[in-house]
This record gives sequence, C-alpha cells and structure tokens, in this order.
Amino acid sequence: MLKEKLVQEVKAPNDTGLFETLANALPALVWIADSTKACIWFNEEWLRFRGRSMAQEYGNGWAKGVHPDDLARCLDIYISHFDARKPFEMEYRLLHRSGEYRWIVNRGAPRFDINGTFSGYTGACIDIMDKWTANQALKDSEQRWKFLTEVMPQLIWIDRGSDGSCIYLSRQWQEFTGCAIEELIDFGWLKVLHPEDRDRTAEAWALCVAGKADYDMEYRIRRHDGVYRWFKVRGVPVIDELGTIHIWYGTCTEIQELIDARQKAEAASIAKSEFLANMSHEIRTPMNAVVGLANILSTSSPLTPRQEEYIHTLQLSADSLLGLINDLLDISKIESRNIELENIPFRLDQLLQETVSMMSHRASEKNLSVTYDGVSLAGKTYRGDPARIRQIINNLCSNAIKFTESGSVRITASAESAADQKENLVFRVEDTGIGIAHDKLDMIFDQFVQADSSVNRRYGGTGLGLAITRALTRLMGGKIIVQSELGKGSAFIVSLQLDTCPHPVNAKEEFQVMPATMPAHRPTILLVEDHPANVLVASTFLEEFGYEVDVATNGLQAIEKATTGDYLLILMDVQMQGANGFEATARIREHEQQTSRPAVPIIGMTAHALSGDKERCIKSGMDDYIAKPFNPDHLLNTIQKNSAAR
Ligand code: ADP
Repeated sequence: MLKEKLVQEVKAPNDTGLFETLANALPALVWIADSTKACIWFNEEWLRFRGRSMAQEYGNGWAKGVHPDDLARCLDIYISHFDARKPFEMEYRLLHRSGEYRWIVNRGAPRFDINGTFSGYTGACIDIMDKWTANQALKDSEQRWKFLTEVMPQLIWIDRGSDGSCIYLSRQWQEFTGCAIEELIDFGWLKVLHPEDRDRTAEAWALCVAGKADYDMEYRIRRHDGVYRWFKVRGVPVIDELGTIHIWYGTCTEIQELIDARQKAEAASIAKSEFLANMSHEIRTPMNAVVGLANILSTSSPLTPRQEEYIHTLQLSADSLLGLINDLLDISKIESRNIELENIPFRLDQLLQETVSMMSHRASEKNLSVTYDGVSLAGKTYRGDPARIRQIINNLCSNAIKFTESGSVRITASAESAADQKENLVFRVEDTGIGIAHDKLDMIFDQFVQADSSVNRRYGGTGLGLAITRALTRLMGGKIIVQSELGKGSAFIVSLQLDTCPHPVNAKEEFQVMPATMPAHRPTILLVEDHPANVLVASTFLEEFGYEVDVATNGLQAIEKATTGDYLLILMDVQMQGANGFEATARIREHEQQTSRPAVPIIGMTAHALSGDKERCIKSGMDDYIAKPFNPDHLLNTIQKNSAAR
C-alpha cells in the first residue's frame, strides 16, 4: 500500500524501482512527506538508524525520536517552511537505535509535479555527530585555552613568525599597561617596553630566532601609571616540518617584587656586615687596652701572689672574650661568604705539633694526657690555609679537653697519595670524655647548638665552634664526621685533600718570634692612634722593645709629622676621626714621591679583622698589617721584619 501511495504521490519517473533503489543506496537518512505534512516514506538507512519500522515512523511517528529539548524548535522550522513552501535546513538530535541521541543535519525541500502542483516535501539527513563532537572538543579546548590565558596573572603573547610582531595579547596586557589590546598588537607593544631595554631585547630575540632556541629575558614594561616594572619573559618557538619557526608562545611574569626583595636582602646583609665590623672594632679597641695592660702588668714587679692571680684571671677572661668575638666574626664572615682562604706553602707536621703542645699545656691543668701521632706527615710541605687548618684542629682539641674529665686526648694525622700531586689527609681527635647522645650527633654542627644545656652550663661555650669547623672544612672541600658514645668518649674525623708542595719550606720561620733585642740607638716609631688607652698600651710595649715613641692622635697630625720628621717606622691605626689611616697613608706616600724622600715603612693596625682589611691596607700604600688586639711578640716581630731594610 505504501508503495502505491508513494508512486502516486511522487509521480516518479517511469521506473519507480530506480528511485527506490537509489534512495536506499544512499548513506543519508531520506524521508518523504505528503502535502499534509505527514511523513509517508523513509529509506532503509533511516529505518536502520532509528531501529524502527516504516509503520512506527509513519505520519508523526518519527517525531518521537527528536530530542525533547529540540522538538519545539524543530517543528517550528518544519511547519513554518512547509507552509511557505520553502526549503529548510536544521540541526537537531535524533534518537539512534543504540539509545543515544545523535546530532543530524536535516535538509528538506518542497516537491511540485509537472503541473506545478505542490505535493509535499522530500528530505535527507546526515549524521554529524562525529563532526559535532570534534567541533565541540575544539570549542572546549579553545575555551579552556582562552580561560587559562585570561585567568593567569602573567601577560601572555603569541607571535606569528619571527619578526617580533604579536598576533595575540591576553587581557592582562590591557590591565597592566592601560593601553587597548588593539594598540599593542603587531608592534604596538614596543611602546611600553623600557627604551633602555630595547636594544638588548632585540639582540636576544635575534639570537633565539637564529638558533631556534627558547627565549628567556628580563625587561621592564611600563605600567598604566607610567612606572616601569621588571618582567621575566619566556617564549617557546613552534617549529614546522620544514624547520621554520611557525609561531611563538610566550609569557611575561612580573618579578619586580622579587628584585626589590633581593635588593633589600642584599642591603640588609651589607648593613649586618658593616654593623659587625663596627661592633668588632668597638669591642676590640678597648679589648686591646685590656689585653695589653694585663700583659704589661703581668711582667711588672714586684707582684703579690694575689695580684698575680688577679692578672692571670684577667688575661684568661680577656682571651675568652676575644675568642667569642672572633667566633662571631667568623660565623658572620662565613654566612656572608666574605671569607677568603689562603693558598700558601706550610709544614703541616710543625703546625700540628705546635697546636698539640699548646693544648698539652691546657690538658695538663686537668691531668689529661695528650698524645700525637703524625708520622706519615713528617717533613712534608703542603699548600693551603694553615691558619684555618690550625683553627679546625684547635676547635676540636679544645672541645676534647673541655668535655673530658679524666683519661686522654689522642690526635692522629695521616696522609695518602692521590692523583695530581695531591694527598688525602685524615685528622682524628679522640677523647675519653662525656660523649654525645646519639640523637644529638647530627645537630651539634648547627650554629648555637649544644648537646646538653645543663652540662654545657658547666663547661661554657657558645655552640659556634663546630659550626665554624664544619664550614671551614667544607670551604676547603673536606668533610667532618663524629663518632661518639655517651659516657665513653668522642672522635671527630676531618678528611681533606691538599696539594703537596715540591719545594719544602721551613714553616717554622713563618711563625718564629724573634728575640727582643735592644737596638743600639733608640730609633723613633710614629704611633698614630686616637684611642688613649691604646696609645698607652702600644707605647708601653714599644718603649719596652727599646724604641722612642712619638704619637699622632689623628690622620692630619700623622701626615704633618710623617712628612717632616724622621721615623724608623709608622704604626697607623686605620679607623680614626678626620683623615683615616688609609687616607693618611696615601697622602704620606704622595708626599714622599713628590719630594723623593725614601718610603718609611707603614704598618696598619686594625680592629676590624674582616677579610679585605689586609688588602685595603696594602692597596693604600702600607707595607704590612697587624690585627688588634696584638700580642707583644707578634708586634715586635712585625716591626723588625718591616724595619730590617732601614
Ligand atoms: P661549644 O663547645 O662552644 O658549646 P661547639 O660548636 O664547639 O660549641 O660544640 C657544640 C656542642 O657539641 C657542645 O656544646 C657539646 O655539647 C658537643 N661537643 C662538641 N665536642 C664534644 C666532645 N669532644 N665531647 C662531647 N661533646 C662535645
């Protein structure tokens, strides 16, 4: 019956079979409606798609398959076009036999017979689900991308090709610069770039383009209020199959706060170093007087036993205070990386023997035996920083003696050859003392940490020694470890690599104190010092050594005296009111050159003891340098060394 109706309705060409075969062969979903809008035929693809029979779809049966959300819109288009006899195209979801709605595009057109009489509509639908899904995915991805670029705090840019012109700039550009995106696009962004950064930026860009490398720059961008702020700029090129750069994706991240914070931290660190240097000067200056006067008093006679004891205690207290100041200075130097290691030849065996014999003296007061074994080092010369190695061994030995009540302290040193004229050295400082609890072993190398505060109250100390020891060891490329058992004792083991020195030196000479011989006639030393107590100490020493002393209490007076008088040597304090020691030295040297006078040896005296002091002294024209508070032997030695030529 359907067939007859169809044949009658469509007035198909003579061969109705041809039409039907064709319609059924199409991959599209074909439908035919009569002039009353009722659907009267569907091709096989339609029925297969829907999984329903012709009878079920017949009339308005098909409409049951339209997604409820699309139905009203769909009917609206269908009816209105139908009534107007116009072709239509609409997209909607149609229920597939699988139970899933699939997007289709449905096109319908009116049908007229040869007499021009309207006889209904014919249409075809194509399943566009895959295209639709792909489109949707693309839309989603675009939305995601856009969303991300809009929510990111960074300024995003995209450059097509490599000429530096932007094809996309995120909304943040507008917010930050106050310029409309249209103004900035293309080369417009150049006008918000700091003029001083332009050449640098262009050069870096050209290099990255040439090398097809990631772009990584820092430059300033002008904010809406006219203030330039620093940005970190990164870009990644996308390279096509031909090897040419297709596009650049990039971000600008504001780093002004980081830069400000870095500058603040640097300023704070400089302020801290200066503060420490000043404090150290302020403390060392009076300490110089205390140590000096105690030394002078200890050699004056007659002294009652009580007075001797007082002076001895005074000397010990001054020494420990000085040790504390030195430790604090060392820690601050290590922290500010303001520490420089020397690399000079020295005899390690002699250094260790000296240290051990000094320690033995202290240990004997506690009835401890100190033994030393360093056979494999005998006679060998190494290159390195003897003062710092001495400091490490000193720290470990003083701890060993401090924390041991009875028994012994044993120091061993051994060397093994390594490649390139180097030797691996191992120092071991062992004691039979109180030991360290297992859970404290890791902590004791931290600053201000002491294993047991109650025990430490008894022994004293600051908790800085091991922190300094470890930092110095590491600075020399070495390692320090500890083994210990509570109540039984501890062993600290330092391993270091040092260069051996093919030309042996007698290191002893370096540390040797020359005997205080009285010069035949009394030459005059000019003492430049503005602190009355230090003038007293230094001149007492100098007179004891057999020198005449002339004093200048400021830099100007020093210049005046040095340029007119005749001195064996000048001892010059560096920190004074008015012209300081460096300036005074420079002026004296200038005068000597102008008048062709022979250069008088000048020894700088500084209470700073920061690294760099020595260099500053030498640079300003001084011959040598001595740190305050000085010990009398060292002072005499330095004077004799520098005046020998005269
Ligand atoms: P200080 O000795 O000034 O307290 P250190 O940094 O030299 O500081 O040592 C830290 C802590 O490690 C000491 O307070 C002590 O508790 C522990 N310690 C160090 N050496 C020894 C040792 N030989 N025997 C026992 N305890 C030690």
